[in-house]
Amino acid sequence: MNEKNELRRFLHWGPFILLSLTFVVTCTTLHMNSMWWPPGPTWGSWVNYCLIWFHVFAVLYNFLRTLMVGPGFVPKKWRPQQNESTKFLQYCQRCEGYKPPRSHHCRRCDRCVLKMDHHCPWVNNCVGWSNQASFVYFLLFFLSASVQGIFIVAPALFRGVSKRYLININMKHLATVNLTMLSCLACIITLGIYMGMGLACLKLLHMQAKVIFTNKTEIERWIIKKAEFRREAYYPGKHMKPFVYPYDLGWRSNYRQMFVPSGDGYSWTVLPGCNQFTLTVEQLEQKKEKRARARSYKCISPATGYCLPIISQGIWVCMTIPCNDDPRIALKPGDLVRVTRSHQHWMYGERVISEEEEVERKQRSGAIKGWFPRVCVEMIVDEGSDDEENNRTGGETFIVDNRSEGKVESETEDTQAGGDVPHEVRYSKKPGMDPYFKRTLELIENENYANLDDEKPPWDEDEAEYDFGEPEGNTPSPWIDGTRKRAL
Ligand SMILES: [Zn+2]
Ligand SMILES: [Zn+2]
Repeated sequence: MNEKNELRRFLHWGPFILLSLTFVVTCTTLHMNSMWWPPGPTWGSWVNYCLIWFHVFAVLYNFLRTLMVGPGFVPKKWRPQQNESTKFLQYCQRCEGYKPPRSHHCRRCDRCVLKMDHHCPWVNNCVGWSNQASFVYFLLFFLSASVQGIFIVAPALFRGVSKRYLININMKHLATVNLTMLSCLACIITLGIYMGMGLACLKLLHMQAKVIFTNKTEIERWIIKKAEFRREAYYPGKHMKPFVYPYDLGWRSNYRQMFVPSGDGYSWTVLPGCNQFTLTVEQLEQKKEKRARARSYKCISPATGYCLPIISQGIWVCMTIPCNDDPRIALKPGDLVRVTRSHQHWMYGERVISEEEEVERKQRSGAIKGWFPRVCVEMIVDEGSDDEENNRTGGETFIVDNRSEGKVESETEDTQAGGDVPHEVRYSKKPGMDPYFKRTLELIENENYANLDDEKPPWDEDEAEYDFGEPEGNTPSPWIDGTRKRAL
């Protein structure tokens, strides 16, 4: 990332608010401390005073490091050194390159991020491989600064408010704090900020502790859940090998990996029996299943790609807009979309890149994955019955996909069962099962495939958090071909 981009990261409400709050609370704390316990004859007063400044520098240093150093972005058009490795990796269409293991595309940074944890709006950058330790230190120091700040500002405020009383009861030596309306207000605001930010830091540290000691990011937790789910639900009789998450090396090693810089962010130490691609192959399999569930739609009237298409689509479509910051896609008549989620008036899917775009390597501007008004498309149905149609669509996709990935299965021992989602499966709903998966099973049972991904995962973060990956393999993607063949 060049310097210009680094500086631009400051021009955002996140760093602006955070730095402003830090400035307000630091000034108030120093002002109140100068009346409450100024550095003087006792050594304790100097320790207290130095600790304030230590906190200020430690918080700012780690904040700036998290923001400026960044998580480590995968270079655009990245390819692994060995060409054969590409078939085990996901392909990112935005970056036009492969995704190294554990990396994900961040929509806000518009780049693939090494060991992506999450995109933090407060530092306006992703937290990942190279800045996660700084981020954790930042949280720790902010929490400890908040605790110290509360212990300074609260008693100082109390002494200021009860100054007259302290003089009356002959404790003049404690009546050192003079309060004005402004400083009283600043104290109350500062205490609020310390408490709010302190609690937020505590919660985030709790989440980060899970990431540090298990070596599983939030995104990876989600992939593991899906890996377990598809073994239980999709292949009940096939006895697939249980999924072994390859990076959890025990809490000591995990901890060391986070805080002692080592490695390059591209290759990782894995458990015996696993390899560098254990996770990525699982991701490819999950992606393939998701794609098999998707249905093809054809655009019949243009979609503008605007968030509020009042003029083109009318008030009803605008009244029911999906409440999230997912992108909206523009469609032209004739475009094909693979739909994975749908609402009453809106659908979510990925526009199939046309042959012309593919050949000319010139993509239309705007997102290719996102929401669009339902009225703009119709489902592609042949003369045959719906079921036959669905089977055929599925079948065709599977065959092409299988051919392209047959090698993956034979060369790695990750997956024993064949790649396809069986058409007839017996599902097992277990007590205590994740509500998201329970709902998914209900939808499968009712053959409500179009709504399958309607239910969002238990959190609503970046797209990358649950919808990782773009069409895999070498371009042109096999499934794009498969879909197109049918449509023509
Ligand atoms: Zn990318
Ligand atoms: Zn990001």
